[in-house]
This record gives sequence, structure tokens and C-alpha cells, in this order.
Amino acid sequence: MSSDSQTAQEALSFADLGLSPKVLSAVSDAGYTQPTPIQAGAIPHAVQGKDVLGIAQTGTGKTAAFVLPMITRLEKGRARARMPRTLILEPTRELAAQVEENFVRYGKNHKLTVALLIGGVSFDEQERKLERGADVLIATPGRLLDHFERGKLLLTGVDILVIDEADRMLDMGFIPDIERVCKLIPFTRQTLFFSATMPPEITKLTEQFLQAPIRIEVSKAASTNTSITQRLVKSGSKPWDKREVLRDLIRAEEDSLKNAIIFCNRKVEVAELYRSLTRHEFDAGALHGDMDQRARMQMLAAFRDGKLKLLVASDVAARGLDIPDVSHVFNYDVPIHAEDYVHRIGRTGRAGRSGKSFTITTKSDTKYVDAIEKLIGQTIEWHDGDLSTLTASDSQDEAPRRGRGAPRRAGRKDDETRHGRKPRGEHKAASGDHDKAEPAAEPAERRERKEAIRSENAERKAKPERNEKRPARQHQEDNDRTVGFGDDVPAFMRIIAKV
Ligand code: AMP
Repeated sequence: MSSDSQTAQEALSFADLGLSPKVLSAVSDAGYTQPTPIQAGAIPHAVQGKDVLGIAQTGTGKTAAFVLPMITRLEKGRARARMPRTLILEPTRELAAQVEENFVRYGKNHKLTVALLIGGVSFDEQERKLERGADVLIATPGRLLDHFERGKLLLTGVDILVIDEADRMLDMGFIPDIERVCKLIPFTRQTLFFSATMPPEITKLTEQFLQAPIRIEVSKAASTNTSITQRLVKSGSKPWDKREVLRDLIRAEEDSLKNAIIFCNRKVEVAELYRSLTRHEFDAGALHGDMDQRARMQMLAAFRDGKLKLLVASDVAARGLDIPDVSHVFNYDVPIHAEDYVHRIGRTGRAGRSGKSFTITTKSDTKYVDAIEKLIGQTIEWHDGDLSTLTASDSQDEAPRRGRGAPRRAGRKDDETRHGRKPRGEHKAASGDHDKAEPAAEPAERRERKEAIRSENAERKAKPERNEKRPARQHQEDNDRTVGFGDDVPAFMRIIAKV
């Protein structure tokens, strides 16, 4: 979309888009006065039953761009048992749950039955809803096909199919499932298709399954939002250097920091950083791929409701989260995939608000920063001097290797998990002993959250989740689990290979 037409569309009001009076009243109750560009571009076509190809990131208001016309169109007709009238495919459970919340908000003047088919939620309740007849079925692809194969679901009554976050589906290895689902739904359906970027596999999918779609592009693929102030922050490469830099940054930003997501590259780091922050009495929680649905939802709800200020997360766990009004994003690690940078910092500066992102950068990260700057087409400013201004001790890349029999480092307290062992705090909690570094009177809420993570992890180890698709990127997260000594193999155990 050209900037001229974008400006013209921004000037439209919701009443100009062809939505029903009941939907307009719910939108006005939600406090939205003007459609966002993706809404202004997509809704007039979607209400007329046309296929839409929306190229838009999360944070642009794209959920309402398909939910509002769907509710308008669903006013005619009614649901039949086991034959949902519309189907929305989402890559993650959280995103599916968020779309459901949108139906609650915008469908408050309607009596729609919305069923959610996602992993981690009991089959029985979902089946009962399907049995009664669902107007809207929101599903992750794996769980949907599970139900279909159990014969509990017919897709021949689907009039509207929404495929959301298609590029994320590609990342997660869901494209074959999506192709299968598309073939199970009558060709006469309407398809609304959304993706932040258009890699060749996604273009091929749209050519195969969309009919003369109206294409709406609201921002350049992989561009970053101009309302976000982005900064690089120099750091020494040791975990304790980075943690100190992060703590200093959080404290320095205190006045403007309403809430923040802190991204780590690996889930083991998520757990470590979370424990370190809580030891330093920051109000923090964690979200990573090992937590089950209940723990993730609890954590997310606490963060969204403002009961939790800092959320430490991995890319997989945070994918597609809609948390309005996040003031800060901290990249504790520079993302290895440049595209993840765009998605991470897109968590702030949403729907026209301003936001700040800080990326903690060590010497070994420069190649990743280069790739990010190339992708976003801009140079990111340094917050407080570049890497050349690091002090001599901070800029040492490698810790001096301990020789055989040399004494262990005399315990900086953050340096507990370098060998991938269980952190001290966890062992002690299990044995009823208390970590002296823990605050004496820990707030009950924080303690509960920690307990939730621990018990969920224990449960998960005991009972692996059945039949869930293992997405490619989640594999990557799993493979990142520290094994044995991880990267920290002591020198005396190393075999020097002759080349
Ligand atoms: P989404 O891109 O769908 O994840 O939406 C991002 C955020 O924008 C959500 O918190 C929405 O509630 C909010 N939003 C959606 N439409 C509008 C609008 N027209 N005006 C202001 N905020 C909106």
C-alpha cells in the first residue's frame, strides 16, 4: 500500500467499513475510534466475502481486521453440530487464546459459540462445544487434525478460513498441516490470510489456496516500527557482566519503565536470568517452552494485568503474544536470527504508542548485530559508547581456564549454572532449605509463580505431552538445552583434534 492510500485509509472511520451496527457498538465500547491501516484496508473487502492477503505484523491491529468482518458475516445463519462455520488457524496456543478474547470483546452483542482447540486443554470440554455447534473454531493445526482424525469434526461447513501468522507457521513446521486442512474445506469458502513476511513458501501457499485475493500491505516486510527507540548496550561477555548491565539498565529506566519483556536466546538462560532477577528483588516472571499451558497462561495473565513488571521469555514462548502497551523490550541476548529482532522489539511501540528497546551486545555478537542492521535497513545507536569503550577487564572474551586442581571461583552468586546443573536455589527449595540470597519475605504471588513453574516442569518431565507437533524452532530451543558441561568443558577434558 502506498503511503498516500495509507493516509486516506487512516482517515476512514469504523462506520465507513461496512460493519454491522452491533459490531460497531462493540468496537466503540472497546474505545477504538479509528481503524488502523490494516483494518481500513482489509475490512471493506472481507465483509463482502472476498479473499484477503494481509501482510502485517502483530501489533498493527490485524486480529480485529479479521474478527470484526467475521462477526458481521456470522450474523446470518446458524451453527450445526460438529460443523463449525468458520475456522481460524493460529501457530500458538497463546495466540489462539488471544483471538478468542477478541471474539468475547467484539462479539459482546452476539450469541456466538466459540470453540478453542489447543494443546494443553482437555479434549472433552472442547468436544462438547463442537458437538453443540460452533460458529467459530480457533485451533492450532496439530490439535485440529487430532480432532478431525478422531471423527469429531467435519470441516465441510466452513465458510470462512483464517490463516494467521503464516510465516510463523512456516517456522514451526506447520505448512504440511495447513495444506491438508485447506484441502478439507470447500473451495467456495472465503480465505483471510495474514503473514508478517512473504517468504517463497508462503507465496506458494497463497497462490495455491487463495482466489483473486485483495492484497493489503501495511508495512514493509521486516521493517521496524519508528515509534520504538532502539539502542545497543555494550557488555562484557560473561553472564554476570550481562546480568549487571541489565540490572543497571532496568534501574536507570525506572521512571519510564511500565513493564518489560526480556528476551533470551535459550530457555536455560530464561530460567537462570529469572532466578537471578528475583534474587535481586526485581518483580520478574518467566515464560519458556518447558512450561505447560496453565503455567504459561497464569504468567501471561499476571504480566498483562500489571501484577508482574518484568517477563523473561524465549522467542518460542513469546511468539505472537499480544500484550498491549509494553514500555520496554530488553534483548538480554542478541537474537541469532535477525528476523527475531523485529518480532521481539515489535512487542513495544504497538498501535502507535512509543516504546524503547535495549539490546545487550558483547564482542562476539557483532556479526548478529550487522545482520540485524542490514535487515532493518538502519544503524542502531549505542546507548553509552560502543564496544571499544569497554573497560579492559570487561572486554576479555574468555574467562581464564581453571587448571586441574585450581580452586573453583570463590562464588559470585550469579555464577551458579555455568555447567548446566540445577541452580542452587532450586535444589534448596526442593529440600526445604532457603537460599540465603533470596529475600526473606518473598511476596506470596511471586512465590506462587515460582512454584507453578517448578511443578509444571516436574509434571512435564514425568509425562511428555502427547502427540503435539514438535515445531522445527522448538527443536532448536530443545537442542539448546545445556548437556553435561555445555560449552564450559574444562581444559583438561578437551581433546585437541589434529587437522
Ligand atoms: P494485534 O495486531 O491484533 O495484535 O493488535 C495490537 C493491539 O492493538 C491490540 O492490543 C489491540 O487491542 C489494539 N487495537 C486493535 N485495533 C485498534 C484500533 N483501531 N485502535 C487502537 N488500538 C487497536
